Amino acid sequence: MTIRAITFDLDNTLWETDQSIFRAEDIMRDALCDAASHWMHSYSFEALKTHRQQVATEYPDKSHDLGWTRREALRRWFLSQGANGAMAQELAELGFNVFYRERQKVEPYPGVDTMLSQLAARFPLGAITNGNADLMTMPMGRYFQFSFRAHEFPRAKPAPDMFTAALAHFQIAPHELLHVGDDPDHDVLGAASLGIRTAWVNTRALPTEAAPEADLTLNSVVELIDHLTPRD
Ligand SMILES: [Mg+2]
Repeated sequence: MTIRAITFDLDNTLWETDQSIFRAEDIMRDALCDAASHWMHSYSFEALKTHRQQVATEYPDKSHDLGWTRREALRRWFLSQGANGAMAQELAELGFNVFYRERQKVEPYPGVDTMLSQLAARFPLGAITNGNADLMTMPMGRYFQFSFRAHEFPRAKPAPDMFTAALAHFQIAPHELLHVGDDPDHDVLGAASLGIRTAWVNTRALPTEAAPEADLTLNSVVELIDHLTPRD
């Protein structure tokens, strides 16, 4: 296939996400206990998750803005515990800021930095994520021309918004773009439905038939380099 540019998903494609999220959740809880222990006695990950799900249900148009959803869930938690509006807002901002700072501390999969440096010498690279990681402030960001995040667009993947923005940025046809990601629906189906070529990175060891539309199936993203011939 003749590829002129590559876009990457981030979470669970370039780095393992779950552990960094769990760690960030724990550190956020500890910071909020330090700041307002009297409103944290019955706090739990599940309790906050319930609020987040409620917020997402009430505001379906904003549910893909994970930062807003988390702040609003935290605000509701503190309101439910007796905080006034201003205090609940302040603690929600504090909690989110701690969470977000920690969530940024991701560890790329082995070999990712080398692979990106090699690819960036041959192709323009972009990132398309439904998460809120700020790639462009990370060392890896230097290999990328852009990082599109769902909360900056009307809709998250698999909707076409970010994919079509990437095509417009590179000024190429869909079949000239390769999108690389771990999610069979968000990444593979979302991109393939526009005619974009796809590489599915099966980092979560799903059944191999989970992404039938994928042009390439990889066990690790670093295998990608072996599939891009010098002609590509
Ligand atoms: Mg992902």
